[in-house]
Amino acid sequence: MSSSPLSQLALPHVLRLHAYTPGLQPTEAGWVKLNTNECPYPPSPRVAEALRREIGADGASLRLYPNPKSIPLRAAVAQLHGLKEENVCIGNGSDDILNLLVRIFCAASTAGRPAGAPDGHALLGATAGWMFPSYSLYPVLVEIQDGRAAIIEFDRSMQLPLARIAASSARAFFLTSPNAPTGVAFSNADLERVLTSFRGLLIVDEAYAPFAAENAIPLLARFPNLVVVRTLSKAYALAGIRVGYALAAPELIGLLDRVRDSYNVNRLSQAAAIAALGDRDHFASIVAKVRATRDQQLSRFSNERGWFTYPSQANFIFTEPRNARGETGLTVAKSAYDFLCSRKVLVRHFPNHALTASFLRISIGTDDEMGVLQQSLDAWRQGGA
Ligand SMILES: *Cc1c(COP(=O)(O)O)cnc(C)c1O
Repeated sequence: MSSSPLSQLALPHVLRLHAYTPGLQPTEAGWVKLNTNECPYPPSPRVAEALRREIGADGASLRLYPNPKSIPLRAAVAQLHGLKEENVCIGNGSDDILNLLVRIFCAASTAGRPAGAPDGHALLGATAGWMFPSYSLYPVLVEIQDGRAAIIEFDRSMQLPLARIAASSARAFFLTSPNAPTGVAFSNADLERVLTSFRGLLIVDEAYAPFAAENAIPLLARFPNLVVVRTLSKAYALAGIRVGYALAAPELIGLLDRVRDSYNVNRLSQAAAIAALGDRDHFASIVAKVRATRDQQLSRFSNERGWFTYPSQANFIFTEPRNARGETGLTVAKSAYDFLCSRKVLVRHFPNHALTASFLRISIGTDDEMGVLQQSLDAWRQGGA
């Protein structure tokens, strides 16, 4: 008997799935890469030392599984934030943590259920919520679970619609702060209003918080319905190492530990992360440099060019290109994007929605890289626009 085609074996929602679109990672040299918010500076030199130490002369330690709960790393994270080890869970990147949270709080929609499935049980239709625009991984994670989403749109102000979030039926609401792709950060005063009015779990995705004025960690002591998610990919210059973490009440950490892979963070990544977290001077100098360049660029775009630019507290800016005729819009942004590409400057354009289509998201690179960017934009306005 021949087997059935995969299209009949794989679950229908998986066949319909749209995979996450990562930013381009060009393989040839020579690109000014301002498209995925990576750090333009290398990580602490202690990271390479720690990796060499962990590998040793012959790699013998790699025979052994890593610490299953990443305990020494949890302890280092807890100490850094003035929390306890039981408030910390480590992920294989913060994307791993976000995925675990979706698996805990978001379930299949009734529509995807075969006839005869037990209905009326509490899990049917358990929804996850988030703002649009924000991190485009959330919908992918929910689609993988065949889950339901309750999405709330920003208006052009990009301020939080507090009453609409309070009224959301989501069990878990993802809030990116500072937000991506806008860079706009939400105040702890606003987060407190959400935490006291919204009935579900609030997940504050703080991938960019080291570049911001405020963060939600001080709220953890008072709000058991808060999870803060962090990553070492941006401010610690370790996107390639894949380490992120969740900070929350012990009960929530216990749920994450039930669902995660038992060895979700490899030996080398644990060692690298501990070394990076330990080098506070290196971290502080990266963050200070990126913030200074960002603030110069914000002023360059808004004051000198007169382009509408959101007040970013992240390591990127979201700006609305204006051509020589003073026009803005999707085709203007696309023209600037294409022109930059032709100059081997890579940024990000999100053409599929009116709130984002007229903008470009530009990661903060070195001062030299930003110089190339600005020169290329001058050339675009003069000739290419
Ligand atoms: C970059 C980013 C992440 C991903 O972090 P990893 O730790 O690299 O998985 C999570 N959330 C947001 C909003 C991001 O921009």
